[in-house]
Amino acid sequence: MCWHVVDVERLVEDDPPARAVWELIGGLDLTRFLSPIGSINGQAGRPAFDPQLLISVWLYAYSRGISSAREIARRCEYEPAFQWLTGLGVINHHTLSDFRIEHREALDELFTQVLAVLSAESLITLERVMHDGTKIYANAGKSSFCTKKRIEAHLKIAREHVARMEQPEAAELPEPRRAKVRERVHREREQRVAHALSEYEKIERAKRPGYNRTSKQQTGASISDPEARIMRHSSAPCALSYNVQVSTDAAAGIVVGIDASQTVPDYEHLVPAVKQIEERLGKRPRQMVVDAGYTSRENVLALHQYGVTMFGRSVQADGRVRQRFARCGVTDGFLPDDFHFDSRSDTFLCPEGKVLRPRVPTERPGRTMIRYQASITDCKVCAQRTKCCSGNTRYGRSIVVTKENPVVTAFRARTASAEGEAALKQRSVVAEFVNAWLKEKLGLRRFHVRGLAKIRTEAMWAALTYNVQQWIRLRWRPLRLAIPLATA
Ligand code: SF4
Repeated sequence: MCWHVVDVERLVEDDPPARAVWELIGGLDLTRFLSPIGSINGQAGRPAFDPQLLISVWLYAYSRGISSAREIARRCEYEPAFQWLTGLGVINHHTLSDFRIEHREALDELFTQVLAVLSAESLITLERVMHDGTKIYANAGKSSFCTKKRIEAHLKIAREHVARMEQPEAAELPEPRRAKVRERVHREREQRVAHALSEYEKIERAKRPGYNRTSKQQTGASISDPEARIMRHSSAPCALSYNVQVSTDAAAGIVVGIDASQTVPDYEHLVPAVKQIEERLGKRPRQMVVDAGYTSRENVLALHQYGVTMFGRSVQADGRVRQRFARCGVTDGFLPDDFHFDSRSDTFLCPEGKVLRPRVPTERPGRTMIRYQASITDCKVCAQRTKCCSGNTRYGRSIVVTKENPVVTAFRARTASAEGEAALKQRSVVAEFVNAWLKEKLGLRRFHVRGLAKIRTEAMWAALTYNVQQWIRLRWRPLRLAIPLATA
């Protein structure tokens, strides 16, 4: 052991990002973080840590790909940048860990404040926003996933443990402190398993009627993180995960909206994303660019109503239609394109020359569907029946014509134009870059917390760190290079 003099200011000479984070956070309004802190006259207690310090430590840690509170606490003891941020102080990992998840609303406001700073520095224009979703692993192993039967068995055991701890003999154990800890652990486990059972019931209720157990729908819940859901990853097998939604402004690649959800389909997150951007920045994006997962007629119409121009890749319909008809036994030569439409009589003629007449149109969001049907008397005796409508013995062959809403037609034409192609190309660069950065650089491949509310908070920390890093790269660092540190 040795004593030596440390010039704290010189600790970050080689690591200016720590200083940049401190400066940025120091210039923001942290009242919402400060308001829960108070002292009670006459009662002892250690002084609270300054929120500026804890925020800066977390942002700096995430920017280095460190997301474990224990690891940060360890590094505060020897790593110069952490020592500078804490003023050579020591922070308990519990303090760090609690701070990360306890200030969801204050953090949300801080995220908006940072966006205001970036917007004032012309790094956000909202001319074009790319929206994308990425699956991030939950903090729960494969073995924690249980069927209803197993969850109930676990719950029974957990309740037995709790009941045993409540017996008078338990209070007379030689180590009462340990017994208390054990009781708390058993109670927490019981609550978690009961929560898993309620989540399982929620999943079952959300299933479509006539659900088939052999399909790929979730058939249980995790007892480690009951709110996590089984999701398919693009380059990995299905796993317990959350679906993180990220909106990125194309001007400088700044994240202008972030959220996490338990639901897999992406299309239902597009309208909430536009609303979130408007709430944070006071205006809507001019253009929104998305991939096929968000392209639905409902979204096209909703964004049109909001005055947002949408670009989105459509699912290749032709291949799907062919596959669907093939499953029903319809062969080539009897697909809808092989039926001839007569506009004067508003009827179709089948390849055998029989008439298909229109039925009452059905209105659906963004389209009108008209079914044209042949008479069963014609089809019953037709020699081509096995190729045209083999499985149907009650009704004549029908085809459905969809009349698109003009807004949807305009959306398709826009996306197919040169501008649309360029926007979609730019989307994959901008949106995928952010996803890769969050996972690779910030280490957010797997969440460190459990439960949707905490997951949303951790995703927010990561997005905030990413934005601060972009601000350092695009604004703070060029300014520092222009004005050397010694004279700054
Ligand atoms: S089955 Fe009916 S619709 Fe199909 S070709 Fe024969 S008559 Fe026409």
